[in-house]
Amino acid sequence: MSSNPSVQVPSSPIPSIQELGFDPQELRRKYDDEREKRLRTDANQQYQEVSGDLERYNVDPYIESTIERDPLVEDIEVAIIGGGFGGLLISARLQEIGVTDFRIIEKAGDFGGTWYWNRYPGAQCDIESYVYLPLLEEVGYIPKEKYSFGPEIFEHAKRVGEFFDLYPRACFQTQVRDLRWDDDAQRWLVRTDRDDVFRAKFVVMSSGPLNRPKLPGIPGLKDFKGHTFHTSRWDYDYTGGDGTGNLDKLSDKRVAIIGTGATSIQSAPHVGKAAKQLYVFQRTPSSIDERGNRPTDPEWAKSLQPGWQHERNHNFACILAGEPTEEDLVNDGWTDLFKSLSKLLASAGDSDVSMEELGMLAEIGDFQKMNKTRARVDATVEDSNTAEALKPWYRPWCKRPTFNDEFLPTFNRPNVELIDTEGKGVERITDKGVVVGGVEYEVDCIIFATGFEVGTAYTRQAEFEVFGRDGTSLTEYWDKGMRTYHGFYSHGFPNCFHMGLTQTGFAPNFTYMLDNQAQHIAGVIEDVNARELQSIEATAEAEAEWVETVNAPDMMTDYLSNCTPGYYNGEGQAGGSDGFLQGHYSDGAVKFYRLLREWRSKGDMDGLITK
Ligand code: NDP
Repeated sequence: MSSNPSVQVPSSPIPSIQELGFDPQELRRKYDDEREKRLRTDANQQYQEVSGDLERYNVDPYIESTIERDPLVEDIEVAIIGGGFGGLLISARLQEIGVTDFRIIEKAGDFGGTWYWNRYPGAQCDIESYVYLPLLEEVGYIPKEKYSFGPEIFEHAKRVGEFFDLYPRACFQTQVRDLRWDDDAQRWLVRTDRDDVFRAKFVVMSSGPLNRPKLPGIPGLKDFKGHTFHTSRWDYDYTGGDGTGNLDKLSDKRVAIIGTGATSIQSAPHVGKAAKQLYVFQRTPSSIDERGNRPTDPEWAKSLQPGWQHERNHNFACILAGEPTEEDLVNDGWTDLFKSLSKLLASAGDSDVSMEELGMLAEIGDFQKMNKTRARVDATVEDSNTAEALKPWYRPWCKRPTFNDEFLPTFNRPNVELIDTEGKGVERITDKGVVVGGVEYEVDCIIFATGFEVGTAYTRQAEFEVFGRDGTSLTEYWDKGMRTYHGFYSHGFPNCFHMGLTQTGFAPNFTYMLDNQAQHIAGVIEDVNARELQSIEATAEAEAEWVETVNAPDMMTDYLSNCTPGYYNGEGQAGGSDGFLQGHYSDGAVKFYRLLREWRSKGDMDGLITK
């Protein structure tokens, strides 16, 4: 079959250019050209680590007073590293099986993880609150709006902590230094920067996949004499205001925001409203769909029956994983992304549609979706050059889709200017400002909305080392990429569970993944204890097989390899496993968690060495 949809064979399900109203071949060329502009050989190396004299970008600005306490030396059953939703969920699920002897070790000053750190103005979760905020039925809370803002989510994390009585078990402002497996004692030794020593039977690592801020390797970054900070460490002392905006101290300031990802999309409108002058420096535009937030209908909330959250969550996950469902309970931009594809495939009828044709239909669905996104830019942004520069030219899953109604109109303000770098990135930073195309934009403050480390060593992101059974470090063991069985256990690292994005089934709703993982880990721990086992550990064979499974090329490999660079595809390193969307179970999250449930119900701990 011809790759040009305009060349029709009589029974082709591919619509013609006339029927489509656009030429797919032309769009493909445009996407390739835009990708070409952005490809670079240094991939993740282009970024700088926030350490040494850049460590200040990593310091917690939210701590009001330092917790004073003596070092703890304790024997415990489980050490949980991380007090975000992963740590909270595993704590809740452990309590359900009667395990209460655990500690939660958290670098921040409270629970919340991502929502503790990301307090920038306008922070909001793009996933519907009724499915994103975990344990709603357990704690008896209904979110105020369809899409919750950061402060409400942070409050909810604290509510979960209170409800499950987790505060007495938490060690805040405490950074794990290292973990060492003592094979004779069959225990982990967990040491912290507070000189604590926990001897734990199990360790659950949930330090988060987007936790370590990163900075671009822009020449001169250290020369800037004005004020700077990263969005995940927002400096309200400097800007004034709070998470809802009102950044009153910026009224006489010229501000630069570098980056136009999900964080910038949400925070720039607040800076634009408050600052004397805002320059937004863009390398690649985000795709921005409608937000359409609305308050929770109290009648709807009253009508909810027990089990509603699980049902809604499962329904959402099924639609996003392409599983058959009869209804769409969430019905928003995310489900629309998938439903339009399903509709298109269905419109192909039940004729004999080849795999190649299915791929083309999917691509056409993506073109149509992105055409709408680009039309929205034209309809919103008054200046035509700015509008043109803000249009994304790639398929929807190349970069994290965003949903927002304020970012685009911000460029209609007289004090806001988009500085498009045509895919090249900021050229240089001087002591006074930011340089693009040889022009220096003088500013008082630079805000880095440049995201988080992805694809660097797990232990570098976690900021601690793990030494396994024979003293091998996890950094060494994962030198050539993660090695796990089912995403949880690694050979040589007994009783150590990973949570997050470690070779598991990916779902855009993070808490869906985390809760399924927490339930699985709690189930395995219950089983280990019921059998009076000392330890479990992945066999080398099971681990190797799993690594092969998750790294096998699939539909997504091809998709991502044609994408513009970003953290989803290891900054353009196609075929690797370093990207956020690479190296996961290719049949999707719903099937993955089903596989885990089936594995548990078989009850033979297949793939594990038991002692
Ligand atoms: P991202 O990594 O998504 O964005 C970083 C931005 O910095 C990109 O626009 C990138 O451009 C730009 N950049 C990097 N280097 C340079 C350079 N040298 N010059 C100019 N620009 C540069 O980080 P975010 O903090 O925006 O988001 C991280 C993730 O956190 C999101 O993708 C999402 O998963 C999550 N999140 C979710 C939210 C939600 O639910 N609403 C809100 C915020 C974040 P380029 O694209 O070219 O690399």
